[in-house]
Amino acid sequence: GFIAPVILAVILGLILWPDSLQEKIKKRCETYLEKHGLPSQNDCEKIWDSFRQAFVEKDPCEVPPDAYDSLIHTVSQVSQEPTCNRMMFWSKTKEKVHEFAKKCSYVTLEDFLLGFLLDNLTWCGKSGSQETFTTGCPSWSDCVNNPVRSFWIQASAAFAASACGDAFVMLDGAIDMPYNPDSTFASVEVKHFNSSIMKSLTVLLVTKEGDTKTCESDESLKHLQTDLGSNLKYQCKVVPQSQLQTCIVD
Ligand code: NAD
Repeated sequence: GFIAPVILAVILGLILWPDSLQEKIKKRCETYLEKHGLPSQNDCEKIWDSFRQAFVEKDPCEVPPDAYDSLIHTVSQVSQEPTCNRMMFWSKTKEKVHEFAKKCSYVTLEDFLLGFLLDNLTWCGKSGSQETFTTGCPSWSDCVNNPVRSFWIQASAAFAASACGDAFVMLDGAIDMPYNPDSTFASVEVKHFNSSIMKSLTVLLVTKEGDTKTCESDESLKHLQTDLGSNLKYQCKVVPQSQLQTCIVD
């Protein structure tokens, strides 16, 4: 009398579970639009279609960043405006930054529809097939033009280009090169900052308790200053990890 309903519930759960990539992304899309008061079934269908056409039927090592231009355009028509003075970039601080951003009302790429839809997902297609895959896809460094890497490059470029007012970046002060020229932050985002709408970039350099690292003692941050050029103001604050519990930088 007890086992049967449990088995039934499990089977039903497996059937209703959004296991396909399409279900997962459409579910995220609907959740997001509802939460932001922009619900529309149609938009999520449209978004799925433009996402799909970026990589389906293609060799998974031959999907360049601009394959996502149509998706980015579609999403920008549905989604909200950039939030000036609250935009936050990051490099090597993924978990910390999202917790901090949520608590202190900053917005990262992953808080916007585009990033929210695809964060922590893997996908690819195959030439000669209409299918989408979530396993057996090339990983980040297997080949340059893979669907996931190309997506994040183009999404990051668009996010950075929209940064306005005072922007922030959370970097890891416990590693050798908090500002690493090979990172997406350095190689894509910084290059797309638009000094006609953005005023400053403040580095939050997160350090371990008791670490004596300063903004000035870090060599890599000198390169960031250089890369920002003279039209964007550079600031930097050391934030001991424990201070991330407060919204002290305000
Ligand atoms: P990072 O080096 O911490 O990389 C960010 C993410 O990209 C990683 O969590 C991983 O999923 C992937 N990645 C990057 N290099 C990789 C590698 N060599 N092997 C496997 N996976 C790799 O920081 P970053 O490169 O400076 O990128 C972060 C910045 O760019 C943020 O400001 C964000 O706006 C954007 N971004 C976000 C994501 C994401 O997964 N949400 C990915 C890339 C870029």
